[in-house]
Amino acid sequence: MFDYLLNENQLKLRDEARDFVKSIPRKMILDMDEDKIKFPTEFLKEAGRRNLMGCRYPEKWGGRGMDWLSTCMVMEEVGVLGYIFACTFGVGAELVCDAVVLHGNDEQKEQYVKPLLRGDVFAAECLTEPRGGSDFFGTTTTAEDKGEYYLINGQKRFIVGGEGADFFLVYARTDPLAEPHKGISCFIVDRSDGVNSEYLYGLMGCRGGGASRLVFKDVKVPKKNLLGTLNQGVDIFKTMMIPERLGTAAMTIGAARPAVDVATGYTSRRKAFGRPIAGFQGVSFQIAEAVTLLDAARAMIHVTAKAVDAGIDPRRVRRMVSESKKFVTESCQKAAHNAMQVMGGIGYTNIYPVERIFRDLRLASIWTGTNEVMSLIIATEWYKEYWEIKSTGASRDLECDAAEYDAVDEKIFE
Ligand SMILES: Cc1cc2nc3c(=O)[nH]c(=O)nc-3n(C[C@H](O)[C@H](O)[C@H](O)COP(=O)(O)OP(=O)(O)OC[C@H]3O[C@@H](n4cnc5c(N)ncnc54)[C@H](O)[C@@H]3O)c2cc1C
Repeated sequence: MFDYLLNENQLKLRDEARDFVKSIPRKMILDMDEDKIKFPTEFLKEAGRRNLMGCRYPEKWGGRGMDWLSTCMVMEEVGVLGYIFACTFGVGAELVCDAVVLHGNDEQKEQYVKPLLRGDVFAAECLTEPRGGSDFFGTTTTAEDKGEYYLINGQKRFIVGGEGADFFLVYARTDPLAEPHKGISCFIVDRSDGVNSEYLYGLMGCRGGGASRLVFKDVKVPKKNLLGTLNQGVDIFKTMMIPERLGTAAMTIGAARPAVDVATGYTSRRKAFGRPIAGFQGVSFQIAEAVTLLDAARAMIHVTAKAVDAGIDPRRVRRMVSESKKFVTESCQKAAHNAMQVMGGIGYTNIYPVERIFRDLRLASIWTGTNEVMSLIIATEWYKEYWEIKSTGASRDLECDAAEYDAVDEKIFE
């Protein structure tokens, strides 16, 4: 649809991603959905072998020196396999590596980013705790300075790759007395004796990603594994929210596409009252709405990716990324809903993959920050921006375009 916006390199990468997606056996998809595979090691190894992960990072660290638009395009294509494939692909290569590439030193990039992008090791991101995921600054996991090392204690919940990952990006409180924004640090924690996956969740969809509760008990983390500055984990958290939310949004489009594809084919062939049901506007208009939503979602992703690449005002980026996450995930859920609806009863069965896609996509508006949290960010940034713009007096006074503009006694605010 948007090929004309992509350059030659991006089109080539897109085709490579499509080849990769074609190469994955259907058995792997089905086995993951049935929880027969706990973590898709073979899938990630192959993605690494084809150098598809982290394409926006410098070549020096295993990327391709490309941009955010390219990343979003790859994430969308990988999402076609199923949401959980893109989750596991994204968590390690696009989230954890993003933090290390942007905030780590060369030794950390050498040790963790390069092997991960080659598909030799796997990583997980540990933010959410049993006491809550929305309130990141309420983190209770602790990291005590013991001189030669940090001692980490605490729990993280719903961690994709909790089963399967070799190392973890863990946020922990390093100054219990400081304000939350000034007392949390970020660590790279290798899987070791004190790191235990204590509970593997039974999920509605997105199975096979090893989502589990992790317990860190007296884990000794070498000082060199502190990422960024002590007590300044917030800086890492802020930059990570871009891949976390923009990447999530992009892959959701790919995960919804097959549902609309299957429904389009089905409604063209299926007959009722003597003619193909696509001939009924009640059916074809639902497909039209789904296609429109997917295209609008992709357009939003392109614009936001360009904004991130251009390095515009971080607060504007924060709003755009949150809007993308909210709009795109809800649009894709609606697209999958329409796809199932127009297929009637058969859409609800496992004869077609639409039911699995529908289950998988429910996660999209919950993880990487719920859509309510996205609304919170959008509203906060929008109100700030509104009053800043008003205070400059640079734009037209829009209220004056009313016949009774001067009726000031009627404009009551308190
Ligand atoms: C399958 C799966 C995989 C996941 N993978 C990971 C992972 O790899 N790493 C990781 O760190 N986390 C992961 N998560 C966690 C996910 O990001 C959190 O579940 C999510 O952020 C919400 O946190 P919570 O579940 O604790 O809900 P809570 O924070 O308890 O929220 C419950 C409800 O309250 C609402 N709410 C809370 N605060 C506000 C507010 N201020 N305003 C309005 N509404 C509010 C929320 O929107 C939500 O509807 C995963 C979750 C799932 C289900």
